[in-house]
Amino acid sequence: MQKINMATPLVEMDGDEMTRILWQMIKELLILPFVELKTEYYDLGLLNRNRTKDQVTVQAALAAKELGVAVKCATITPNRQRMEEYPELTQMWNSPNATIRSIMDGTVFRRPIIVNHVRPVVRTWESPITIARHAYGDLYKAVDLRTEEPGSCELLFTADSGRQERLLVQRADGPAVWQACHNYRSSIRSFARSCFQYALDTHQDLWFSTKDTISKTYDGEFKQIFEQEYSAFSPAFKRAGIRYFYTLIDDAVARVIRSRGGFIWACKNYDGDVMSDMVSTAFGSLAMMTSVLVAPDGSTEYEAAHGTVTQHYYRYLKGEKPSTNPTATIFAWSGALKKRGSIDQLPDLVRFGESLEQACLDTLNNGLVTKDLFQLAEQNAALHPVSSEELLEAIAERLRQKFDSK
Ligand code: NAD
Repeated sequence: MQKINMATPLVEMDGDEMTRILWQMIKELLILPFVELKTEYYDLGLLNRNRTKDQVTVQAALAAKELGVAVKCATITPNRQRMEEYPELTQMWNSPNATIRSIMDGTVFRRPIIVNHVRPVVRTWESPITIARHAYGDLYKAVDLRTEEPGSCELLFTADSGRQERLLVQRADGPAVWQACHNYRSSIRSFARSCFQYALDTHQDLWFSTKDTISKTYDGEFKQIFEQEYSAFSPAFKRAGIRYFYTLIDDAVARVIRSRGGFIWACKNYDGDVMSDMVSTAFGSLAMMTSVLVAPDGSTEYEAAHGTVTQHYYRYLKGEKPSTNPTATIFAWSGALKKRGSIDQLPDLVRFGESLEQACLDTLNNGLVTKDLFQLAEQNAALHPVSSEELLEAIAERLRQKFDSK
């Protein structure tokens, strides 16, 4: 069989623990036999991040911007417990995802992968709902204050020119808590552009919701910037037969629950945090969520939404064959290959990405599943729980049948 050629390399970001093991298996069984794979490899494993003082993460993100398409394995974000587990760590390094997100200035889109035996909890949902979460500011960059005495709290803005704006937050008669948060108009604009672009790329309607009836200035700014940005995209939306729809977040929740799915729901940072967990749980599991980071310049990074599945890794180290679900990581690879193929105008590479996804879905729908899916499945489904390796072998066999018969 002739392998499929690539023109431009993918930026490959390797990771940690069980997902690092799956990464290697996916490459060996599902990609290298079929594709003359070209990648620019960055090892984002925790120890290499430590060795390079985290410069490898920065270099990988810059490469993703330059080459346009990246695929990332899940990585450990160190916390206190990890500092004890890895005594060689010289610093509690930042989350690689946060570093990459801030360099690419991107928006994260999370989309569930649906299989036959795991029905969404919401029975009307027929197609995936993609959550687009603004990844900067609001609660996540807020400053908090706790006070004991009666008094007044003010918000004071001092411009570099020296001009000041002052606003009374509240007069408190006793102990109180306070919070101030911010966002940049440029970040909201990038968020809006990424959402409109992704809606066009994936041919889906875009919904956006805030609480601008209460938060007239802050949320009102989000609403207005989306409207301004939409004016440039609206002809392309009309041509594509898709629509942009703004509503209040409470109305959006009611409509989402009664919907059939099949659209993108853009949310502010906190709303996106909560709603993406709600949507992934209601669709099945975190192990079936793909995640795509899209920058306003169009560069894209694909990954699974889940973490490094630590417990499975420790069982793997003891010689067990864990049943870790590789689906979302496979879809990260297929998404990146399809995107690379479409940018480089390589239809064979796009078709390979599609075939890889289909082979994965056919294998799962035919009853070979990992244990997490087995536990979630409807009880009468005739399913066989298998290890990750067995599942990947079965997917590879389907791919071989498809490509060898050509
Ligand atoms: P996790 O996603 O690894 O696991 C959460 C739960 O979901 C566990 O019960 C796990 O068994 C289950 N699960 C997740 N993915 C699964 C899969 N593919 N197959 C079967 N079961 C699966 O998250 P965690 O335990 O909170 O974190 C573990 C490590 O991952 C941490 O060090 C964290 O920093 C890192 N993490 C990385 C990313 C990322 O790189 N994008 C995201 C989240 C967490």
